Amino acid sequence: MIDVDVLVVGGGPAGSSAATFLARAGVDVRVVDRAHFPRPKPCAEYLSPEASRLLDAMGALERVEQSGAAQLSGISVRAPSGAVIKGDFIASHGFRGFRDRGLSVRREVLDAILLDCARDAGAVVCEGARVTDVVRDPTQRVVGVRTLVSGTPGEIRARLVIAADGLRSVIAHRLGLANVLRWPRRIALVSHYSGVGEIGAHGEMHVERDGYVGIADVGHGITTVALVVPASRARAFSEDRAAFLDRWLLARPHLAPRFARAERVSPVVATGPFASHARRAWSPGAALVGDAADFFDPFTGEGIYAAMRGGEMLAESARESLAATSPRASDAPLAEYDAARRREFGGKWLVERVIGAVVGSAPLINRAARGLSARKDMADLLIGVTGDFVPPREVIRLGYVWRVFGI
Ligand SMILES: Cc1cc2nc3c(=O)[nH]c(=O)nc-3n(C[C@H](O)[C@H](O)[C@H](O)COP(=O)(O)OP(=O)(O)OC[C@H]3O[C@@H](n4cnc5c(N)ncnc54)[C@H](O)[C@@H]3O)c2cc1C
Repeated sequence: MIDVDVLVVGGGPAGSSAATFLARAGVDVRVVDRAHFPRPKPCAEYLSPEASRLLDAMGALERVEQSGAAQLSGISVRAPSGAVIKGDFIASHGFRGFRDRGLSVRREVLDAILLDCARDAGAVVCEGARVTDVVRDPTQRVVGVRTLVSGTPGEIRARLVIAADGLRSVIAHRLGLANVLRWPRRIALVSHYSGVGEIGAHGEMHVERDGYVGIADVGHGITTVALVVPASRARAFSEDRAAFLDRWLLARPHLAPRFARAERVSPVVATGPFASHARRAWSPGAALVGDAADFFDPFTGEGIYAAMRGGEMLAESARESLAATSPRASDAPLAEYDAARRREFGGKWLVERVIGAVVGSAPLINRAARGLSARKDMADLLIGVTGDFVPPREVIRLGYVWRVFGI
């Protein structure tokens, strides 16, 4: 009755990573995705310096670099007061990433390369296949999924189902694991422009009282623009997202001249709210990875790293689970994967949540910007944490917080 050992639902960074590492280890893997690749994905499209380690391990780094991805030397954050925090990846704190630069690349390009890595490793990829539900046995163990391909319903049976189906994971919802957080409720409008002025080698975040916008070069003269606003603003752009985005940018005196001659080159896509955190990242016969398991807020821009790293960790546990001699024994490695995720990402989750709260409050971000713009060493440290190569404990210290906020 088993069609495949591991069925991965979703061929984004999380699913491609899990599938690549599993297929490379000789596991029989199938990936299904409702989309046909290359497909767009609303994202600010920045990859941390440490994400390159995973790209390299998957065999994608050279292809991504050769695709014309932009190289970023750091991140700058402008507070509503106009104070700018500028952090560089190469700094005097003594920590180094896998690469000294971050990458910035369109998701159409990146995700297609990553899915090709899974194919090259031996995974079978089925595009245009939407998963609608899980199939369970009488003990409630997940034993497969129901699919819809060109309107035709079907079923795929697997020994393990990996839910890498993103923020609104059907599988996490069907298993009762999804946990949409009440705060922060933010939504994003994302698009690409050509001809934006003064684009440098730093990814930019501009925080305003009514939201924030991420701006970065993604190569080939294209700039990605991701505007994040409170979900309560959704009605304001329900009729014309493009006009709302243009108005928002042109209403900022420091951004308007840079966008005066810019031309939008992709549709404006809306997404959100984002904040969700699964109760558990596993259930008997299934495991969650990437946004399906956890995503908070795009400000710190590391969902892609977490998705690929999660895929790498899950591949290890999935192999142990498949090698177990009883269904019960096969659950233990999945529970351990969940615990390992908390150990790996716990510090980062805390930093993300604190940053998420600070950017939602003009007085707090203004105060932090005042502190960090005067202390380049501390700004570098924070940008290194968000770049995934400085341990979060370096900023989760009373002394650090004290100096940032001057309390
Ligand atoms: C506005 C915004 C900006 C962001 N900016 C950044 C950034 O700059 N850097 C960064 O690292 N991260 C960023 N992120 C986060 C990042 O986009 C995600 O964390 C990352 O895409 C997670 O990868 P994933 O593989 O888990 O999910 P996804 O990339 O969403 O992939 C999920 C896949 O599952 C497929 N799928 C979904 N449902 C089904 C179904 N029912 N059946 C079959 N297939 C299905 C989808 O087609 C998709 O291909 C941003 C997010 C947002 C919203």
